[in-house]
Amino acid sequence: MLVDTPSVLIKQKGQHVSLNGQIEYVVARVMGEVASPTKINWLNSSFLIGMPIVSVIGVVLHWLYFGPPGWTEGIIFVGMYYACGLSITAGYHRLFAHRSHTAAWPLVFLYAFFGAGAFQNSIIEWSSDHRNHHKFVDTHKDPYSAPRGFFYSHMGWIMIEEDLFQNDFTNVKDLEKSAIIQWQHRNIFIIGGVSGWILPALIGFLIGGLPTAVGGLVYGGLVRTVFVHHGTFLINSAAHIWGTQPYSDENTSKDSFWLAFFTFGEGYHNFHHQFQADYRNGIRWYQFDPTKWWIKTLSLIGITSNLKKTPDHSIVVSKLDMKYKRSARLLELKDVDTASFEQRVSLCREAMRNALFEMAKARKELKENIDSSKDTINDNINELKTSIISIRVDINDLFSDMNNAKFALA
Ligand SMILES: [Zn+2]
Ligand SMILES: [Zn+2]
Repeated sequence: MLVDTPSVLIKQKGQHVSLNGQIEYVVARVMGEVASPTKINWLNSSFLIGMPIVSVIGVVLHWLYFGPPGWTEGIIFVGMYYACGLSITAGYHRLFAHRSHTAAWPLVFLYAFFGAGAFQNSIIEWSSDHRNHHKFVDTHKDPYSAPRGFFYSHMGWIMIEEDLFQNDFTNVKDLEKSAIIQWQHRNIFIIGGVSGWILPALIGFLIGGLPTAVGGLVYGGLVRTVFVHHGTFLINSAAHIWGTQPYSDENTSKDSFWLAFFTFGEGYHNFHHQFQADYRNGIRWYQFDPTKWWIKTLSLIGITSNLKKTPDHSIVVSKLDMKYKRSARLLELKDVDTASFEQRVSLCREAMRNALFEMAKARKELKENIDSSKDTINDNINELKTSIISIRVDINDLFSDMNNAKFALA
C-alpha cells in the first residue's frame, strides 16, 4: 500500500541543518530521485509503536500481580541495558561499521548475540546503513538524513521504505566474510528473541521463580528494548540538531555532553563524523565515553587490539581551523579584510602541526628506547612543550586581534 507521508519529509521548523544537505535534498525531490509517495513498512512500524505500549502494559500487569519491581529486576534491567547497548555502540558501531579496532571471535560472538537483542536488525544491515550515513551525510542518499526532520532521522526512516534505500550490501563485503556475522544475519529474529527476551526471563526464573521471570522479561526485555532503541535513535536525530561543532560545520553532526550520558558516550558526534576511524568519541580522559573505556580495558587483556587513534596534530588543527572559520566569517560580514589573519593562521597551523607531530614521534621513541638516548629525547620533548606553549600564545593573540578588529568597526 502506498501512503503519502509528507510530515516526515519536511524539515522541522527552527532546526539547524547544513545548507548543502538541504539544497541537495530539494534538488533530489524536484528531480524525482527521492520517492514520495512512500511505502510504509508495517512490520517495523508496528514493532516501534507497539513496543512502548506493550512495555507499559507489562509493567502494569507485573505490578498488579507481583508488586513493584525489586533489586533483581533493576539489576537484570541494567545488565541487559549494558549488554545490548554496548553491543550496538562498541560492536555494531565502532567495531563493525567503522573497523576502529579488531576483536577476538568470542567478543564478536557476544556482540552478535546481544546486538540482536537490541532489535536494530543485523550487523550487516546496520553497518551498511551506517556507512552510507557517513558517506552521504545530510544528503538524500543518507538513510537517516537529519535535514528530513527530527522524526524522520529518529525513527521515521525505519518505518517507511523507499526504493532509493534498497540495500545491496556492496559496502559491507568485508563483514560478510565473518561466519559469525553471516549466521547472525540469517537468524537475526530468533537470536534477538533468545538474547533480548528469553534470556532475561530465564535469569529471573533461576533467581526467584515465576514472579521474577515475568519481571526479568518486562524490565530486562521489553522496557530495556525501548530504552536502547531510543538511546541509539537519539544519535541520528538529536546529535544532528543540538550541541556544538568544534571540529567541522560541513555537516549537521554535533558534540553533546548530555547526550553522551544516554548513549554510552556516542554524544561526541561532531568529533566522530570528522574522525570516524577513531575508537574514541570523547577524546579527553574525563569525557563520558563508556564505550571507549570498555574497548580500551579489553585491549589490556588482549581481547581487542589495533585500536585506532587520530593523531593529536590532526585534532588540534581541525579545531583551530573551525575556530578561525567562525571568527573570519564574522569579520567578512563586517567587510573586514581577513588576508593578514589568514596568513597568520596558516603559520600557526603549520607550526602546531609540526610541533605535535614531532612530539608524538619523540614520545614513541621514548617508549621504545630502554635507556641510552632517553635524556636527549626528554630534552627534545621539553623543547617541543615550550614551542607548543608559544604557538598557543600566538593563536590566542590572533583570535584576540580578530576580535578587536570586529569591535573596532562596531
Ligand atoms: Zn551521524
Ligand atoms: Zn559512525
